[in-house]
Amino acid sequence: MNSKRTVYVGDVPIGGSHPIVIQSMINTDLKNRNRSLEQIIRLHESGSGIVRIAYPGSEYRDDFEYIVSRSPCPVIADIHFSADLAVEAMELGASKIRINPGNIKKRNLIKIIEKAKKFEVPIRIGVNSGSLEKDLLEKYGHPVPDGLVESAMRSTAFFEENDFDNIVLSVKSSDVNFMIESNIKLARKTDYPIHLGVTEAGGLIRGTVKNSIGIGYLLKNSIGDTVRVSLSTEPEKEIEIAKKMLKALHLYGNAPDVISCPTCSRSTFDVAGMQEIVEQHLENVKKDITVAVMGCVVNGPGEAKEADLGITGSLNECVLFKKGEIVFRGNPESVIEKLLEEVDSYEKD
Ligand code: SF4
Repeated sequence: MNSKRTVYVGDVPIGGSHPIVIQSMINTDLKNRNRSLEQIIRLHESGSGIVRIAYPGSEYRDDFEYIVSRSPCPVIADIHFSADLAVEAMELGASKIRINPGNIKKRNLIKIIEKAKKFEVPIRIGVNSGSLEKDLLEKYGHPVPDGLVESAMRSTAFFEENDFDNIVLSVKSSDVNFMIESNIKLARKTDYPIHLGVTEAGGLIRGTVKNSIGIGYLLKNSIGDTVRVSLSTEPEKEIEIAKKMLKALHLYGNAPDVISCPTCSRSTFDVAGMQEIVEQHLENVKKDITVAVMGCVVNGPGEAKEADLGITGSLNECVLFKKGEIVFRGNPESVIEKLLEEVDSYEKD
């Protein structure tokens, strides 16, 4: 979003004025090819524009090729330590390579660059606070945002000197403040697309909080072009959280949003239960629609009117708003039933 350059991962553009691309990483054993492929399909169908696979060694060569050749979306190979593996992954069909400059020797990077040029495969230079190069650690004493940015820019300069600019950059940390500061500094120095993520962010709740603050803050400030929400749980959840995060910032089009009140002593019907029914119903809906579920007449009519569809009221009578007008009245159960029907037939003007 912030970057001026666009990089193509297969047919998926990252950067420029293109929409933010959500990505995730499979966590299956590559030897279990079909299970791996099924996970990629699930991730892609739920909104992952590209999917990353760790490619740990040549013993997975046939499995990797099998999976990549059948993937419904471009695949990124995540490579550590070995330039030969990066070259092999590109030969097997990877549409992008992610490397960490801290753990591949400069002279070996040339092999990767030459192959990436030939195959027109972009490379993400992914710097992590946990694996900064030794000389930068000595210079700064310990990992600091300036060290991460220096590492990323130094590698970028090396790639450019070797006539390669098909680059995406990332500077990640498990510390939210560190990650934010690093990306702000990076964005001031580069116009390459930036991949955002809080690495090793934790489980579902803690990780969602950290990712939302870190990634959300940066996106709100027009920094970042592709995101990976990192959670210690199933990667399908990462996509769900990423979509909701982008939706909350109005950066994701074809997905619903829900407004629901926290309830208080004024509510006389099961708002939380109704909200849950609505969320479940919306799980597979691919429409740009906002639905409000509100517990009483204090803020209810205002929010319900402003949403595309909204309900509010009391145990005795609830009302359904559609585009600001009341279109149905009844008990909570009948109104929720009507609301779900309206969701299914809803079309934006
Ligand atoms: Fe309470 Fe009504 Fe506000 Fe819901 S909308 S939190 S029920 S005052």
